[in-house]
Amino acid sequence: MEIEKVKCLIIGSGPAGYTAAIYASRAGLSPVLYQGLQPGGQLTITNDVENYPGYPEGINGPQMMEDFKKQAERFGTDVRYGIATAVDFSSQPHKVTIDEQQVILADSVIISTGASAKWLGLESEARLNGNGVSACAVCDGFFYRGQDVAIVGAGDTAAEEATYLANLCRKVYMIIRRDEMRASLIMQERVKKTPNIEIVWNSVTEEVLGEQAVEGVRLKNVLTNETREIPVTGFFVAIGHQPNSEIFKEYLNLDENGYIRTIPGTSKTNIDGVFACGDVQDFTYRQAVTAAGTGCMAALDAERYLASRDLH
Ligand code: NDP
Repeated sequence: MEIEKVKCLIIGSGPAGYTAAIYASRAGLSPVLYQGLQPGGQLTITNDVENYPGYPEGINGPQMMEDFKKQAERFGTDVRYGIATAVDFSSQPHKVTIDEQQVILADSVIISTGASAKWLGLESEARLNGNGVSACAVCDGFFYRGQDVAIVGAGDTAAEEATYLANLCRKVYMIIRRDEMRASLIMQERVKKTPNIEIVWNSVTEEVLGEQAVEGVRLKNVLTNETREIPVTGFFVAIGHQPNSEIFKEYLNLDENGYIRTIPGTSKTNIDGVFACGDVQDFTYRQAVTAAGTGCMAALDAERYLASRDLH
């Protein structure tokens, strides 16, 4: 196996990873960044980003990530294709295997592997992703203002997103596969009290309808097997996120949902020299701007750590 030694290794290439890279490269840490499975992260499956400060006209997600990347490269970040497939954080320097074939020895590691939205797994859902199908109401809800939309899921995220959408849209159909909601009682109450949310109980999505863009959704009642079509222009999936933390779980403290635990107010994990930022450690905010903020924190924490060990 090929072995390479670096001062600062960044794993993941969303707003958190690239921001960490901008700061780390400007601080002279010569960071190496591996882009991971989905270069650019979740923003590359969004259209316009309108809530990132500094872009008064909005910017499309893939373009924004390209700009982040260029800015990181401008200061010397070595951005590479490749996926971290294993880690060994048992001794310094930390060991990270890339694509099962290359070993990087790193004095500091910044984890920014993000989270992935869970999807229903329908062909039509994948085909219309970005054209009416979305896993983020806060990102995309605005495009459906005044229109009718549907949202799948019955947890706190779905309940929160349904009420968020109800403020913008004419009508929100909330599609729930059982006869009860998993969400906290207070969120259930909020949903039930919102007049323009219609809960469709005991129902699963058979197909998202439309060729170029979402035009409706076909639902099946699991008790009666009856199907029904509802005309909607937006279809939101809120059935949970999966933090991409699997390869770290042997070494890092994770919470009950798999998110990496960091020491509050820092990006520090339970292992010295290993820092986490962005969605892999944040299930509360999950925004590009908050991810970028924690990416900055991780680079500053890594720099201080290296300086304190005379590794800078
Ligand atoms: P959850 O796992 O809590 O809920 C997922 C929901 O999606 C469930 O209702 C589940 O249904 C449904 N679901 C899963 N798969 C399918 C499918 N294939 N078809 C239809 N429905 C499906 O995820 P959340 O993202 O909502 O929440 C994750 C965690 O974050 C929770 O602990 C939650 O409390 C927390 N959270 C807290 C918030 C807050 O405090 N403000 C805000 C958001 C999240 P079923 O119930 O039938 O399994």
